[in-house]
Amino acid sequence: MLSTTSCCADKGLARQQLGAAIDASGTAVTPANHAGSATPGAQADLLVVGQIVTNDAGAPTAEAMAISAGRIIGIGSMSDVEGLTNSATTTLKADGVVIPGLIEPHMHIWTSLINLDWIDLSNEACPTFDDAVATIKATAAKTPAGQYVLGKLFDPSRYPGEPPLTRAILDQAVPDHPVLVMNASQHYLYANSAALAAAGVTDATPDPAGGSFGRVDGKLNGIIGEPPAMMMMMARFPKPSPAQVAAGVRQILAACASQGVTSMREAATGSLAGVAELAALHQINGAQRLPVRVSTAQFSIMAGKASPADAAAAWKAAGVTPFSGDEMVRADAWKVVTDGSNQGRSGYFFQPYLGEDNGGHADWTPEGVRAALKAGLDDGWQLMVHTNGDAAVEFALEAVEDVLPGYGSADLRHRFEHVSFTTDDQLARLAKAGISVSFLMNHVYYWGAAFRDTILGPARAGRLDRVASAYRAGLLPSLHSDYNVTKVHPLLSARTAVLRQLQADGSVLNPAECATREQALAAITTNAAWQIHADDRGSLQLGKRADFAFASANPWTSDPADWDKIAVHATFIDGTPAWQS
Ligand SMILES: [Zn+2]
Repeated sequence: MLSTTSCCADKGLARQQLGAAIDASGTAVTPANHAGSATPGAQADLLVVGQIVTNDAGAPTAEAMAISAGRIIGIGSMSDVEGLTNSATTTLKADGVVIPGLIEPHMHIWTSLINLDWIDLSNEACPTFDDAVATIKATAAKTPAGQYVLGKLFDPSRYPGEPPLTRAILDQAVPDHPVLVMNASQHYLYANSAALAAAGVTDATPDPAGGSFGRVDGKLNGIIGEPPAMMMMMARFPKPSPAQVAAGVRQILAACASQGVTSMREAATGSLAGVAELAALHQINGAQRLPVRVSTAQFSIMAGKASPADAAAAWKAAGVTPFSGDEMVRADAWKVVTDGSNQGRSGYFFQPYLGEDNGGHADWTPEGVRAALKAGLDDGWQLMVHTNGDAAVEFALEAVEDVLPGYGSADLRHRFEHVSFTTDDQLARLAKAGISVSFLMNHVYYWGAAFRDTILGPARAGRLDRVASAYRAGLLPSLHSDYNVTKVHPLLSARTAVLRQLQADGSVLNPAECATREQALAAITTNAAWQIHADDRGSLQLGKRADFAFASANPWTSDPADWDKIAVHATFIDGTPAWQS
């Protein structure tokens, strides 16, 4: 009944590598409080002047913003803020256009740490199969003898017509160093002979339960499937220290900030090391403020806990209750995953995948998923439900339609995640049930052609990430990266929501689903802020938090086709520097 499949990572594998370092944080969840609160009648301690874009339709631009204790106490013309400053007020002249800090409503810190420093073999970095092999070879040439060459984000679905990345191909490129390449789905590793030897895996090694060592005529072909077998390949890797984990967390969040993000949601907190993950975030933030505010979604499956109810009890016992924490690290939601990844052909569909006779399956029984949802609802959590295929949306929707009416009308803002393929009926029912949606918009940009041509066919592919239909159904969608499934780049996601242009061939995937400029920008600001219970963020308005970025252009007036080229120079949280280039 319980699943180890997620949208993003192999939890067992990551736990093996990172568990001990995170466990060292213990289970004492101790918030640090960096934030102040503005007092009525206060004078500004900071005055930001320049071209300010507010994301407030009533007053879209301003030339000055007065800030006291991290809150906006005045915004408008210079004369509007005149009475709010005194000799103690610091003036900050904007380096570029001031935009509201962007909101990343679904990404992963912990499971992304496992291969943070591995070389990038994504289709974007390596446009052809041969480029990927050449990158592996070039990396090996710079790697000291005996050390591993490690690559990530390799995606065979982006190289149609090319052979599988086998041991023979890797041996030819790199005969001496051990080489391991992780598939973008994180469900496969590709190994050369040296890596198999280093792990002690031979032709005679039996497949572990739930994993496989690919073989041809009894000989290992270097293709290793699923966590139990992948873990055997990595069992002898050095484990990171808590200091290295802390540095990795900061590195990931700094990369978010470099795209203008000031608030994010960690979408599977506790999946590797339980409560210790949240304790670690507070400790790292306590030592030095994090560069991005973190909202956490507590994972409903916890190592060592038999059921979601037991996981919920563990969170509660540690004092992790809805909205506990502080304004930098706050626990907000309850995460339930109902199917796999569509590009990995493990999403759950009504119709089979192209070339197959099955369309995937749900990760739970109907009773099981209801129990998982109730475990969170009983403690008052916002639901965050991963659904990828259209049958998974149906499966999860039937469950929430069944259980939610028993839980009153608290403003919890339950969400479905990815909701990649939907019917009109499902969107209408989501709206009726009061469930908002968040789209992994980069699905269209990076995998749209693969869905259309090799995975699902054109009719189904056109129903991918229906932002315009979601708005028409009365929903207020957000856009997310699901990092490290794709890179954190909200303005690229928004660009794709407007253009629906495919990276592979530049064609447009179902123009009827193109969002307007305003819809796309709301999806990475105010809608996303609302979904992470951050109503005081997403726009620059009186009383809101002074979370903003200095950018090279105003997205609200520039061509959406150029949004991905907008550079961010610096970000600020509560008016104080959070990150700079
Ligand atoms: Zn995810």
